[in-house]
Amino acid sequence: MKKLIAGNWKMNGSRDEVNQLAYDLMTGLSAEPSDKFEILLCPPFVYLDRMDKFFKATPVSIGAQDCSPRENGAFTGDVSASMLADMGCSYVILGHSERRTYHHESSEDVRAKAMRALAAGLKAIICIGESEKQRTDGIHMETVADQLEHSLPPGFNSGNTVIAYEPVWAIGTGKTASPQDVEEMHGFIRKKLSEKIKDAGNLRILYGGSMKPDNAAALLATRDVDGGLIGGASLDAASFIAIASAA
Ligand code: PEP
Repeated sequence: MKKLIAGNWKMNGSRDEVNQLAYDLMTGLSAEPSDKFEILLCPPFVYLDRMDKFFKATPVSIGAQDCSPRENGAFTGDVSASMLADMGCSYVILGHSERRTYHHESSEDVRAKAMRALAAGLKAIICIGESEKQRTDGIHMETVADQLEHSLPPGFNSGNTVIAYEPVWAIGTGKTASPQDVEEMHGFIRKKLSEKIKDAGNLRILYGGSMKPDNAAALLATRDVDGGLIGGASLDAASFIAIASAA
């Protein structure tokens, strides 16, 4: 299975900055598809069209960072999954811990969004992960199991869904989970998925949380790690390319 190396640009950048980042990525990445990894870039909504045009004729995929749980209509400020597909997106990140925290998104909300994403033909990247307290309290496994149980949409499979395990305490903090902890959690997630679908072995499970060029090789070589969701380091073309090369 090709590793998925996904950059989550979050709410960063200006027109000039995203142009420069796209240019640097374009020149640094091979024009030919790699047989080892697939690159996905998730810019803010307002730059999706620009990035789609930039990377259209390349192997780079474009995705969004969220979508509405509704199909269309009078929902001011929201963006629907079908609009994202129309803009050239092939993926959408859902249930990122920043949305679960700052927008109080529940796993049920994430599931509703994932249903729209799948209906629009997008692949849903469903983020799950425990807080530091949940880990020190020893309830990280059950927390993740519960998020998985309530976030996964009906009809999910390895072709339309990706899981991103992102321990909240590792996001943007410079702390990373150890490869042993990641292996344990990814194995657990794989087991939970295999209780629900036949092709769980092919469903990508990404690790996210302060992945950088110096720790990427170890994390990406860990059993059951099928790629990375990268925040901070994805804003620097050289770092992001170094992480992809580690795959
Ligand atoms: C993320 O936001 O998904 C993430 C993993 O961020 P960072 O790489 O900055 O920890």
